[in-house]
Formats: sequence, C-alpha cells, structure tokens
Amino acid sequence: MAAGPDDGTGDDGASAAFVEEWRNAAYNCYSSGHKFCREVCPVMQVTRNEVHTPTAFHANVVAMEKGLLSIEDVARDYVHCTQCGACELRCPNTLYTGDFYRFRTRTVQLVKAVRALAVDSGIHQPGWQRWVEETDRQKSEPVLGDVPVSQEHVRDWAAGLDLPVGGETILFCDCEGAFHRTSVPRAAARILQAAGVEFGLMREQWCCGGPAAEMGYSERAREFARHNVDDWRAVGAKRIIVFDPHDYITFTEDYPSYFGDEYDFEIVLFVELLAELIRDGRLALTRPVERAVTYHDACRLNKRKGIHAAPREVLRAIPGLTFKDVDHVTQWSYCSGAGGGLPIERPDLTAEISRRRVERAAALDVDTLVSACVWSERPLTEQRGALEVMDLLEIVALAAGLEDAT
Ligand code: SF4
Ligand code: SF4
Repeated sequence: MAAGPDDGTGDDGASAAFVEEWRNAAYNCYSSGHKFCREVCPVMQVTRNEVHTPTAFHANVVAMEKGLLSIEDVARDYVHCTQCGACELRCPNTLYTGDFYRFRTRTVQLVKAVRALAVDSGIHQPGWQRWVEETDRQKSEPVLGDVPVSQEHVRDWAAGLDLPVGGETILFCDCEGAFHRTSVPRAAARILQAAGVEFGLMREQWCCGGPAAEMGYSERAREFARHNVDDWRAVGAKRIIVFDPHDYITFTEDYPSYFGDEYDFEIVLFVELLAELIRDGRLALTRPVERAVTYHDACRLNKRKGIHAAPREVLRAIPGLTFKDVDHVTQWSYCSGAGGGLPIERPDLTAEISRRRVERAAALDVDTLVSACVWSERPLTEQRGALEVMDLLEIVALAAGLEDAT
C-alpha cells in the first residue's frame, strides 16, 4: 500500500510519491537483508554506524511507508554516502541477477532521491545549501583554489594555449580543474593538440549541475544543465569531451533524464579517447617516466560505469613506468571520500577515507598514486605522506614530452 498524505510519512504528497517510487527497491533489500554491502562501503568502514549503511537507507523507506519515520527523522543520515556505487555491485541482488536480468540494486539513486525530498520539504544541510547558493551566484562551484571563482576567470586555466571557442567538439573543464588543479585541463588540452584532435571551449561554461543534483537541489541542477546544453547547441557542438568522471556521470545519466530525445550529444570520456589515440599511434609516448605507480580506480568510472580497462591500458603504454596494479574488484571498497558532497558536510570522514586509501597505496612500495578523477586528488594529496598524487593526464603529458602543459 502506498503512503498517503496523512499517514505520517511527511507533510504532503511529495513523501507519498517518493515512497510509491522507491518501495519496491526498498523491499528488494529489506526482504533480503544480507548486508553484504556494508563492508565495501567506504563511509561505513570509518563510522561503523548502522544508520550509515545501504541497508538502513532502504529500510528507512519501509519505515516511512508504515508511518514510523518521516523525512525529518532520516535526512541527515543520507549525508553519509559518497555515491560511489560499491554497495550496488556487492549486493547479491545485483550479483546473482544482474547478468541475466540486467538488474542492479539502486542505492545511489535512492540517496539522491531522499536528498531531493529533504530539500523539497525545506530540510537543508547548511554546507550544501551554501555551496549550491554560491555555485548559483558564480556559475561555478566555490572550489578553494588560487584562482578566484567567477565567470571572468573560468578560462584562465587555458592561458597561452590558444584554444578556440566553439566547434563540433567541445572540451568541458570541470570546476576543480578550472580553478584549482589547472594542470589537469592543461594536460588534456595539450594532449588533444599533440594528437591533432580539433576542439574548442564553450562560450560560457557553467558548472555541470551534477553536484547540486547529488545534494538534492534538482531544480537548480536542471538550470545549469539547460544553460550548458543551450551553449553547446549555439556553437554547433555535437561531441563533448570530459576528463572528470563526475561530469561523465552527469552528462550520460542526468542530462538524458532531463532532456529525453532532444539530448543528442556524443559524450566522450577522455581516458577512453586517450587509450584509442595511443593505440592508433596518434599520440606517441616516447619519454620514459621512471616512477613506481599504482592506480586509484575512480568510483564513478569503475563502480558506476564499469570503466577500468582504459586507464590501465594507458598506464601500461608509458615507457619506464613500473605499474603495481590492484584489480578493479578489490578496489570496489576503495574510495577517496571526495564524492557526493561528503567533503562539504563531513570533511573529517573524507580525510579518513583518503588516508586509508593512501595507506593501501603506500603498502605497495610505490612512489606515486595515479588517479583519473580530479576531484579525488585534493583529499588524496592532503593525506599523501611520502607519495606523490598525480592525475593520469599529467603523467601522460610527461610521457608525451608535453611538460609545458603543466
Ligand atoms: S543493499 Fe543489497 S547487500 Fe545490502 S542489505 Fe540490501 S539487499 Fe543486502
Ligand atoms: S554508494 Fe558508496 S558510500 Fe554510498 S552507501 Fe553505497 S557504498 Fe556507501
């Protein structure tokens, strides 16, 4: 039975609609309850608190349906998720039926839905509310970097690279890259130039809107999306290249859900293009890079999208590199803690999750931890100890003799 307006699940039909949408997923979990998901969850590994588990996230919906809990009671619990996707893969309901029925337990989307219900019900997490308001004001996320965040400075990272605006192929640069780790987009642009890939920048690039959607501010997220899609169309773009896994999720999952058939852009993930360019001989990696590295599987590539082969193919193509790999399944439980707004509301948890990730890398006796996610690199760097944290594109730029990229 679906919840009604007066059954204690909330103050209006929004809660009832939410329960109606999510009750089947909740019972899929609640009636199983094997809790296999708990130990791969990077947040649970740190807090050891049952209310921060995927099991509880689903059970709450059952309790809301029964009128035993309301969104006010549980909204804060759902801060404790990086939306990494590990629990979905580890869940036996995915493992044993996923191959045949294409079923996947939907915990990440549930977390997003609960956060959206909270915002729609007037329940705000103070850090997220400030973050989204500031993003709305400046049109880019308020990342704390050397460059002031504003539209005026959104292309500062590209200074001296002589990049055009517009064209059929656009390089989308996420906010962390544009205003903080500018070496990553500079490496991306120089690699494309060296490989002869024609591309341009947007006329006016706003935040992708993904973080706002992750924190529950769905309407705001749609406004960002609308702006960016209109900008792509205005310059004749057909293909968007992204190096940030978060943008990749937003453009391949959120935007299609907002715009339906109208959304007809090809979204290209940089690391997959990069593997192709190297394979086809269009990008030559000729400079030895004498480092011992391990690779950090970005959650949104490995666990959310199943992309783990291309980054490894790229690393194995770099001369001089000693690559000590940890397989992508073992890495289900690894995370930097940087996703899903966790660093804004619980920076202490992000720091501890990153510290544990770096510790695992250090045990392999490497000097460098390579990541393909620019957002992971700040918390990992803060915990790096004796290790250096590099982006995959930074290390490829070195191997391609493009040191001036950084
Ligand atoms: S999410 Fe999956 S593994 Fe975790 S308790 Fe629910 S059904 Fe079990
Ligand atoms: S998506 Fe990741 S952080 Fe969120 S509950 Fe699942 S395993 Fe934990």
